[in-house]
Amino acid sequence: MKYNNVDFDTYFKNYPDESGFFGKYGGSYIPPELQKAMEEITDAYYAISKSGKFISELRRIRKEFQGRPTPISYLERLSGQFGNVQLYVKREDLNHTGAHKLNHCMGEALLAKYMGKKKVIAETGAGQHGVALATAAAYFGLECDIYMGAVDIKKQAPNVARMKILGANVIEVTDGLQTLKEAVDAAFTAYCNEYKDAIYCIGSVVGPHPFPMMVRDFQSIVGIEAREQFLEMTGELPDAVVACVGGGSNAMGIFSGFLNDPVDIYGVEPLGRGEKLGDHAASLTYGTEGIMHGFNSIMLKDENGEPAPVYSVASGLDYPSSGPEHAFLHDLGRVKYDTVNDDDTIDAFYTLSRLEGIIPAIESSHAVAYGMKLAKEMDKGSILINLSGRGDKDMDYVIEKYGIR
Ligand SMILES: *Cc1c(COP(=O)(O)O)cnc(C)c1O
Repeated sequence: MKYNNVDFDTYFKNYPDESGFFGKYGGSYIPPELQKAMEEITDAYYAISKSGKFISELRRIRKEFQGRPTPISYLERLSGQFGNVQLYVKREDLNHTGAHKLNHCMGEALLAKYMGKKKVIAETGAGQHGVALATAAAYFGLECDIYMGAVDIKKQAPNVARMKILGANVIEVTDGLQTLKEAVDAAFTAYCNEYKDAIYCIGSVVGPHPFPMMVRDFQSIVGIEAREQFLEMTGELPDAVVACVGGGSNAMGIFSGFLNDPVDIYGVEPLGRGEKLGDHAASLTYGTEGIMHGFNSIMLKDENGEPAPVYSVASGLDYPSSGPEHAFLHDLGRVKYDTVNDDDTIDAFYTLSRLEGIIPAIESSHAVAYGMKLAKEMDKGSILINLSGRGDKDMDYVIEKYGIR
């Protein structure tokens, strides 16, 4: 299938190119000492991840440890509200640890093991990536250093406890605002000093090449399974596929299965409290081209051109940019990016819980809300929503802030 001169039959061979570009987006904008480390990871990834041994080991882990394949569920009661539109969810909430992040963390940690590394290093904001990586490190017997801002450590006590129980070192970062940005800087600095023994594990399809490609490839299991399962369940492809977009890993995972199909694809960004800069994290919708954290993409900038402060009710979505492949698919028009605000998200959180017995993560609730909005606009057809994670982590917060609806 061709789309604006991009041939999706051969898409994964050509995107990213050798230097990690999706069109003009992506690349690797980092200090020379880190460039060497990234090249080592890139070479290892190409050599190791295509080997039969690596592939079959990862396949076995996905089945026996992660609990894959995760099912697709038909939302019968919710669909009943929309006439002839059928809604389905891909159940990444049932993946071990309760979200899709383990899909790429197991891949990255297995790669670390094959490369002979002893340690994995990462930063975490809300703690979800830290928990997934700590889980992978425990499984493979790797040391795990997680850098986290002091403010986030206080806010995310349950995830800090989980990481510590899993044996990770949670390293407190006390520079600047003591949140995610400072944690990224501290983790990168540590990695510069330790790259001989350690590998940096990025938590989404962001950062310098090869991470946007590598994380997408590890997440593509979601799209591969979903396409096959949906065809088996219904005999057809879905008319629309929907996923929430923070950095964009769960979205790239499911989208990758349908890019070459006549399927409408929607990425949902958090509109937070509204359209004013600082009140949302809808970087593809309101941002402009720019470089941060080592890659070129579309980002939200402040008046000095620096990454802008962002906000979303979903802490997993409040990032001022998105992966370069999303920027590319955005400009191409292959994926439509749109927004959902906090309030509609919380409504969807309760609706899915009440009607289907599935408590979604607040991140995933953005996709559910958008799926419901689409269903209202369509008079028939089917919508497949990626349910990136479960909402156990969010229940106390939702009740405290919004009450029972
Ligand atoms: C982290 C997270 C997200 C956002 O990350 P992406 O890379 O955009 O997928 C979405 N949903 C859940 C449940 C998360 O934990």
